[in-house]
Amino acid sequence: MVGPAERALGVHRVLEPPGVLPQAALRVDPDPEIGPDEVRIAVERLNLDAASFRQLAEAHAGDGAAVRAAVLRIVAERGKMQNPVTGSGGMLIGVVDAVGPESPLGLAVGDRVATLVSLTLTPLAITDGLARWDGRSEQVPAEGTAILFARSIAAVLPVDLSERVSLALLDVCGAPAATARVIRRTAARSVVVLGAAGKSGCLSLAAARAAGATQLTGLVRDDAEAGALRAAGLADRVIVADATDPLAVAAAVGTPADVTVVCVDVPGAEHGAVLATADGGTVIFFSMATSFAAAALGAEGMAADVTMLVGNGYTPGHANLALGLYRSNAGVRGLIGSRIR
Ligand code: NAP
Repeated sequence: MVGPAERALGVHRVLEPPGVLPQAALRVDPDPEIGPDEVRIAVERLNLDAASFRQLAEAHAGDGAAVRAAVLRIVAERGKMQNPVTGSGGMLIGVVDAVGPESPLGLAVGDRVATLVSLTLTPLAITDGLARWDGRSEQVPAEGTAILFARSIAAVLPVDLSERVSLALLDVCGAPAATARVIRRTAARSVVVLGAAGKSGCLSLAAARAAGATQLTGLVRDDAEAGALRAAGLADRVIVADATDPLAVAAAVGTPADVTVVCVDVPGAEHGAVLATADGGTVIFFSMATSFAAAALGAEGMAADVTMLVGNGYTPGHANLALGLYRSNAGVRGLIGSRIR
């Protein structure tokens, strides 16, 4: 028997194994029939998490049809879009088409919303075979239904931004919010962002500046990204290095920073991030490709006295912060725009 507190977390939808939370479940029930405390969304577009999409694209050598088939297979098998290799998901946008009488989310039928809870726990049924998606981009036009629980969160989409922009911003809005919070709490001044020309990276730089940081370093993969980041004017210093090469990162960063934010979408950035951070400083691992073991054992092995934070995708006010940074910052608009075109 599932009580109201467990129902609010979606436990009643878990099929296998019984008793776990939906995110840990192998399979959830995506039945579009809603309970009294649930909300159903008519899905319009999925945004696959960057680490998940990269893994799928690489596993299928960039073959879009094979990537599409893999996503359909995962959703059919699991009742949710949770990449079994990366464990990550993404989020979606759609229109609210049914609201249970006891739902506390404050949503109304007809609202266009973005889910701010991960696809890894969102019951999802796809009904169009993803026919309008070529399998080559993180953003996936889709038809189907998704279910929100009483403890889910969703944001009504802003009318002044395109769907694609909103989706991209809301997917990564936890990164700038976490960065701003750490800088305010620690009075940090110097910040290094790994993967600084990407979506979460450029937002984190802008958030760091707004929160009072004064020495911003953006680390990027190559000269093309360096040019784009310099043109955006978000960093005081742009450096080029492979984030997965710790010694190269340390050499490029030079004097370690108060805060390092890991925004790359590849595994292996843990040790470079630790070396980039001063004793007493903080590393924010926003990347879903982060290994807890590599981070913890790496810091221990280097006798590095750094605080390491898992980048929680949720911080109060995170959606509005990211939307505001996009609206107010031409550099952020340029970099995000180039990613979603
Ligand atoms: P993105 O826009 O693709 O940006 C990633 C950036 O990292 C790109 O500029 C990429 O360069 C760069 N990069 C990749 N490999 C690199 C390397 N070896 N050295 C230096 N730079 C490298 O990704 P995003 O959407 O911002 O997402 C970033 C990470 O956040 C992903 O791991 C994603 O899964 C995670 N995420 C976390 C949460 C959460 O709640 N914690 C939510 C959403 C996303 P190229 O484009 O040239 O490859």
